[in-house]
Amino acid sequence: MALCDGERKTNNLQCNGTLYKCTHCDSEGCEQSKDHTCSNQAFSVLGRCYKCGTVGQRQVLSDVKTDRAPRKTPSFI
Ligand SMILES: [Zn+2]
Ligand SMILES: [Zn+2]
Repeated sequence: MALCDGERKTNNLQCNGTLYKCTHCDSEGCEQSKDHTCSNQAFSVLGRCYKCGTVGQRQVLSDVKTDRAPRKTPSFI
């Protein structure tokens, strides 16, 4: 699975966020709720592309599917 290997500027840890690709300009990166959160951020709130400014044209980069089994909720609730 493609995960963001950028660095979060808040705590200097690896981002591990979902990677998206802009279908308009092919820019790739993660999406963050605030601007300039990750060094590899390509999309800001509402899915606006940093590069071309298009909104809502991002696609999840899921070229390789690793986890087929959905995470199960504990049944002892
Ligand atoms: Zn990131
Ligand atoms: Zn774009």
